[in-house]
Amino acid sequence: MIKQSALILIGALTLNSLIASADPSHSWSYEGANGPEHWSSLSDNNAACNHGWNQSPLNLTAMIDADQLPLVLNYHPGGKEILNNGHTVQVNYATGNTLNVGYHRFNLMQLHFHTPSENRIESRSYPMEMHMVHATPEGRLAVLAIMFKTGKKNAELARIWDDLPQPGQRRALKGSLDITQLLPSSLDYIRYNGSLTTPPCTEGVSWFVLKTPIEASADQMTRFTRLIGENNRPLQHLNARVIIK
Ligand SMILES: [Zn+2]
Repeated sequence: MIKQSALILIGALTLNSLIASADPSHSWSYEGANGPEHWSSLSDNNAACNHGWNQSPLNLTAMIDADQLPLVLNYHPGGKEILNNGHTVQVNYATGNTLNVGYHRFNLMQLHFHTPSENRIESRSYPMEMHMVHATPEGRLAVLAIMFKTGKKNAELARIWDDLPQPGQRRALKGSLDITQLLPSSLDYIRYNGSLTTPPCTEGVSWFVLKTPIEASADQMTRFTRLIGENNRPLQHLNARVIIK
């Protein structure tokens, strides 16, 4: 009984931290006095940001080969609302889209973007990275990360990109976004244990970074950076973790 209450509490906290990211607050930023090296001092809730041992993003290198469990993605065209919280552009989802790996089933909560990429693969930075944030009902978090390289205009991205909300704006998504059109041909992934990359930098997040990038045009990525600025947290220390590929 105690255990169950604790799980519900963790779930509520996690949900709060996810919802908090929709707050159009500029209490933290990517540079200056409220920049990443000061995030922990901005709030007691942010202690993990500068004092945690399992933080994201990482340079994904010195990886260990392993037989990986396949990712089973069950996504449908949808998306409930789109918002600009001043830190990123985010699409929130209603329930019904899941990432399944082994016996874990994670529900897609939201997806958002970073320019340039936060994680690096073998020291390579990409011009943009999409994070699809998932949670179990118990509050266990998983992020599926997809890199973008410069190439053809991405038609699916254009469905939300042609009408990006301004900072502080939130509105219902016009039409729907088909995530399956934003997936690369291969779902081979790199796996590590990390954190949210924005305050409160919550740890215990399972990261799945797809090895294969998808394409968007330079113009699409520039439009995002012009609106949001560079929103990539600096690389964090690996410490005692292993990265599996
Ligand atoms: Zn992110």
